[in-house]
Amino acid sequence: GSEVDVDPGVEIDEENAEDDLLGGLQIDTTDDIEVPDRLVDQVIGQDEARDIIIKAAKQRRHVMMIGSPGTGKSMLAKAMSQLLPQEDLQDVLVYHNPDDGNAPKVRTVPAGKGEQIIDAHKEEARKRNQMRSILMWIIIAIVIGYALLTANILLGILAAGIIWLIFRYTSRGTDAMVPNMIVDNGDQRQAPFEDATGAHAGALLGDVRHDPFQSGGMETPSHDRVEPGSIHKANKGVLFVDEINTLDVRTQQKLMTAIQEGEFSITGQSERSSGAMVQTEPVPCDFIMIAAGNLDAMENMHPALRNRIKGYGYEVYMDDTIEDTPEMRRKYARFVAQEVERDGRLPHFTDDAVEELILEAKRRSGRKNHLTLHFRSLGGLVRVAGDIARAEDREFTTRDDVLQAKERSRSIEQQLADDYIERRKDYELQVTDTGVEGRVNGLAVMGEDSGIMLPVMAEIAPAQGGGQVIATGKLQEMAEESVQNVSAIIKKFSDVDLSEKDIHIQFVQAGQQGVDGDSASITVATAVISALEDIPVDQSVAMTGSLSVRGDVLPVGGVTHKIEAAAKAGCETVIIPKANEQDVMIEDEYEEMVDIIPCANISEVLDVALEGEPKKDSLVDRLKQITGTALDKQQPV
Ligand code: ADP
Repeated sequence: GSEVDVDPGVEIDEENAEDDLLGGLQIDTTDDIEVPDRLVDQVIGQDEARDIIIKAAKQRRHVMMIGSPGTGKSMLAKAMSQLLPQEDLQDVLVYHNPDDGNAPKVRTVPAGKGEQIIDAHKEEARKRNQMRSILMWIIIAIVIGYALLTANILLGILAAGIIWLIFRYTSRGTDAMVPNMIVDNGDQRQAPFEDATGAHAGALLGDVRHDPFQSGGMETPSHDRVEPGSIHKANKGVLFVDEINTLDVRTQQKLMTAIQEGEFSITGQSERSSGAMVQTEPVPCDFIMIAAGNLDAMENMHPALRNRIKGYGYEVYMDDTIEDTPEMRRKYARFVAQEVERDGRLPHFTDDAVEELILEAKRRSGRKNHLTLHFRSLGGLVRVAGDIARAEDREFTTRDDVLQAKERSRSIEQQLADDYIERRKDYELQVTDTGVEGRVNGLAVMGEDSGIMLPVMAEIAPAQGGGQVIATGKLQEMAEESVQNVSAIIKKFSDVDLSEKDIHIQFVQAGQQGVDGDSASITVATAVISALEDIPVDQSVAMTGSLSVRGDVLPVGGVTHKIEAAAKAGCETVIIPKANEQDVMIEDEYEEMVDIIPCANISEVLDVALEGEPKKDSLVDRLKQITGTALDKQQPV
């Protein structure tokens, strides 16, 4: 959207914007930030998608949006409806067809006219009914009068009753005169936006209700049972369908017909209902379709429908993250203001509460110098934090509320990981004070956003035949690879020939689902070297990093979560790859608990992790000479 506007009196400190979490916004609370009126100006990031929406609105083109949930697809679709002209809006009326009761007629009139027509018809019907009942009472009076004259009272009452019944049951004919307004745009201020996500066929394409009284004068005329579908309500506006692939194929086909023709008859969708006999004249459905989904939605989508959109419109991919700039941070502050206003009941956020949220957005991006664009979950955090403040009747939402909210809205994986740490405490698998040979605290990621500590044990035994790497569980492959990489280094400084040894690697309690061990190769290497050289490993140290054959420590994912997991488990020092240094976005609370030591190669890792000075120093010295450049000549990578 546009630049962030603030209330007069609030300043943007451009000079120090670069280092400021709020991008230089000098606000006290989010109340000082102006929220733009148009939805399209509220959209943050997604520049390409936004440009396309603006263009497609002008040209009336369909759009396909592919991307993660909560990144603004439906928001953009709604924004598009605000950009469409409202002059074109129409009301749609369905009339009884005197020639064929099962083929109701359809009339389209300019928006607002529909109500006048209905009122006129009702007035006419009322008058006609009045005339009819006057007529009826006159006839009854004549009949009874005649009966009194001829003293045939009984016959007179009977005749009057029959006349009454006849009039009553033929009065349906006048009901049938009033049309049924299925699309009413009389009060509509902007082009319609219809979200048809997950709609069944009837809701999407329109339906004709079943009539339990199909004869005998009790029936509802068929035109009165006609119900519009989203495609009809979206006429001249936007039809948004998320998870487009979940629509069944026949419905997708019909949807395509509707797009092609710009009109679509309504018929009963359930085959055995009386509604299925009814079919209206075509009802206009001239909408712009915005189809959305994730990548595999595209694969399961009806190819013809996809081609239709592709051929007559645009396809756009939604971004997951965006570069972290002062301007962007100011927009994130505005995002908080937007969400507070949209909810309407949350207290505005203080400046440091917003800072915490921006930190969280950085953290969730999982990328250096980026912010996450997964706004739905970020908005969820805003609401939970605001609710905490509101429950305590506070005027503003504070940083503490945001921290508490984060605790509450932990993902399932995070809850599992925390539970896992709790349980491990019972088994005393926690950090111990003394060094242990061959045992290293590795760190792994579970799910997307939580770290766990994953200790690794290595033991070396003489091989019976050729040496093997024996690892427990699914991590065998990774263990073999790390041992291979480390063996190149070991060859250079040790007399031990690893190919004559069996190396047992055990991942302590790695039975957990979703544990990603890819980034544990420095852990395995350290454990193997420690076991080989009989040098104990400091158990208050945890580490993560990938190892190259040259002995370089390569960057890995999820460092922030891993560091937090190590801190929670009681570690004092965490080794991370030097290249990941900028990815660290841990909360202040943890910062005080752990020392973070970035390492560029394995000798630095061992320097930190091993204990027992004389032996260790000589090992590290030997390693320093051979890692990095020394290995370059033999081991080009
Ligand atoms: P999607 O359709 O991609 O699943 P939505 O558009 O429904 O996501 O997003 C949910 C909510 O998150 C929106 O109503 C809005 O409050 C917020 N939101 C999502 N994307 C953005 C964005 N790019 N800029 C600002 N707010 C956003």
